[in-house]
Amino acid sequence: MKPMHGAYLFKALKDKGCIIMACNTRIAPGTMKGLFRAAKDSDSALILELAKSECDVNGGYTGLTPKKLSELACKYAAEVGFEEWALHADHTAVKKGTPEELEEVKKLLSVCIDAGYTSFAMDASHLFNFQGKNVEEELADNIRCTTECANHIKKEYTKKYGAKEGKEFGLEVEVGEIGRKNTGGMILTKPEEAAAYIKALNKNNVFPQVLAIANGSTHGNIYDKEGKPIEQVTIDIPQTKKVAKALRKIESYVRIAQHGITGTPLKFIKELFPHGDIIKGNVGTFWQNLFWEVIEKEKPELYQDAYNWVMKTYKDEAVKKGMKSDVEIWGTYGKFATKQFFERIYDLDKNTIKKIENKTCEEALKFFDAFKAKGSAKIVREYVESIGV
Ligand SMILES: [Zn+2]
Repeated sequence: MKPMHGAYLFKALKDKGCIIMACNTRIAPGTMKGLFRAAKDSDSALILELAKSECDVNGGYTGLTPKKLSELACKYAAEVGFEEWALHADHTAVKKGTPEELEEVKKLLSVCIDAGYTSFAMDASHLFNFQGKNVEEELADNIRCTTECANHIKKEYTKKYGAKEGKEFGLEVEVGEIGRKNTGGMILTKPEEAAAYIKALNKNNVFPQVLAIANGSTHGNIYDKEGKPIEQVTIDIPQTKKVAKALRKIESYVRIAQHGITGTPLKFIKELFPHGDIIKGNVGTFWQNLFWEVIEKEKPELYQDAYNWVMKTYKDEAVKKGMKSDVEIWGTYGKFATKQFFERIYDLDKNTIKKIENKTCEEALKFFDAFKAKGSAKIVREYVESIGV
């Protein structure tokens, strides 16, 4: 079952007080079907995504190419019979902004479009001119590269689906590198910076629906100085609201994508997140953690082999970086075991996969509840009907 055009989800659910859950399915078996089942059961719109680092033409660190990811997602969506989902390229990173790099990124985007992706995140947030005299100068390279890549997507997407109104891809852009720190702590995206960035893109005829900002979260699992796992409660809610307000003030329909939700307590999400200001919530590492928790119990030999491989391969580097515990090293570098143990993971028996699927479904339902997303798929269906495509 093919994904919907990404813009359907973002446009239908704008200002409806809910957050669309976007899941990085680094490991497909059990995880994907569990997510689709939960989406179907609660009638919640869903996004599946992987970043460029996780999935590219060479398989990234998950061993999945865009084509393979798309095939698997479509297969499980069909098994469950769920339609209100989009396939998203998370963090399509541009880090240098050179012509060579841009060509490579555009090639990857074409591969994703060919594979059936319907939504894309351009991430040129690393390009920041600290010598810039004003916001426009600071963000000039980000704006230039994001525009060039967005135009490329527009051209290729139109070639594939035609120019008929409504057949519009989802577009997320990023200002302020997520998790970046200086001596004073986390660097947060300023409201005027977000507004100037969107204004400049709009002026270039680029119209994203979603904006990723740096608002105090970090990707992946997080740990204290001793290497003990801690909760993610550093997301700056007032700052996030201010950014959303600045976007509304320039009459933009862009809303915020919250990255790095793994580790955030559900109660914090449900009660404190500004649902509606935030429209997309990325949950990635959580599903990987869940997978390995089930494997530790059900297939201890696979878990032990993966764990030992991670320690053997990354411990020296991790210690050099100041990591204090094996728990932290496994929690940080464990993602690289996905490709290394790809065959054994994708060859798991039905019973084990079912356990992963059931547990994923159970946990996803809790997230949909905290995101106030239950029933959001119905709103998407009605929207699609209303635009008559
Ligand atoms: Zn992210």
